[in-house]
Amino acid sequence: MGEPALTRILPADQPSIAQAAALIRAGEVVAFPTETVYGLGANALDAAAVAKIFAAKGRPSNDPLIVHIADLDQLALIAKHVPDSAAVLIEAFWAGPLTLILPRTAAIPSLVSAGLPTVGVRMPAHPVAQALIRAAGVPIAAPSANRFAHTSPTTAQHVYDDLNGTIPLILDGGATHYGVESTILDLSGTPRLLRPGGITAEELRFWLPDLQIVERHNDDAQPMIAPGMLLKHYAPTVPLTLFEGEPSAVRQALRDRAEALLAAGQRVGLLLTAEDAAEIDLPTARIVSLGSQSDLPTIARHLYSALRSFEQPPLVDHLLARSFPAQGLGLAIRDRLMRAAAGHMEIV
Ligand code: AMP
Ligand code: MG
Repeated sequence: MGEPALTRILPADQPSIAQAAALIRAGEVVAFPTETVYGLGANALDAAAVAKIFAAKGRPSNDPLIVHIADLDQLALIAKHVPDSAAVLIEAFWAGPLTLILPRTAAIPSLVSAGLPTVGVRMPAHPVAQALIRAAGVPIAAPSANRFAHTSPTTAQHVYDDLNGTIPLILDGGATHYGVESTILDLSGTPRLLRPGGITAEELRFWLPDLQIVERHNDDAQPMIAPGMLLKHYAPTVPLTLFEGEPSAVRQALRDRAEALLAAGQRVGLLLTAEDAAEIDLPTARIVSLGSQSDLPTIARHLYSALRSFEQPPLVDHLLARSFPAQGLGLAIRDRLMRAAAGHMEIV
């Protein structure tokens, strides 16, 4: 097979999209921007190509991929049937960050779905993702373009940092808009939210009043309903502790813990809202603000870059962060922080 030694980053213009599409048709993998995070794509109909995604990421084969389409015509190739409930949601939310779990056709290799009878499908809203899928002429299977279990990439540089030397090409479309992955909705029975994401539970409940929110697994030994539900996922390499409670109590707890760690000679990083940062004055801590607590889209957009920034010098020994209320986009932000913290959450 021969691993490509060099990974090129190209601006996502028409010629480089054509190059990327040719690579996809030739059975190679390519990283590309979507409106959620960067994806690592291969021809979803080609098992050998899909296997390269798992190899490049170091992703276990029991963790299924999402198939990306650009036109509704492609759906019949992928899903055996589309329930009425799905048709309504497709009309309301596609193209956009909503993945639907539907029964899989035989055209989709079982490797894509980790052997499950279902397949996750979505139509990305990003113009580069759409142009790439159209130019390739095939649906594109793509998980996030990071090393397995690392923080998802929201810039081309993040992809490069994780996958340099293992993939031939990264299309650079700038920083992604949502910054968290797609919402995953299982419609094979009672509607279940498997992963909160860019489309909120509140938006979905308008169409699905009986929507259930699945508690994502906190025990790696349990069988997974949807892999990717491992608690330690999306994690930075720095140990993170999360604080949850009344905003002012959380701010006090963050300040107290940071002061105690600093006094013990530890290097401390703080992941804060702008409001926290205005109140917490610790010149020897490394402080990153995600944005105003009232602007959850901005906080989601900055979250993964902020987590990754703590992997660059000056390094810290401990990272402390606040949790967010589980409403609207806050549900997805809180979920990703919980995962990054591997469950280390303190209620104050
Ligand atoms: P990623 O794009 O890296 O977030 O990975 C895709 C995620 O989609 C997986 O980790 C699963 O959580 C989910 N997924 C994909 N296909 C299925 C499926 N057939 N059933 C349940 N979850 C799925
Ligand atoms: Mg992922």
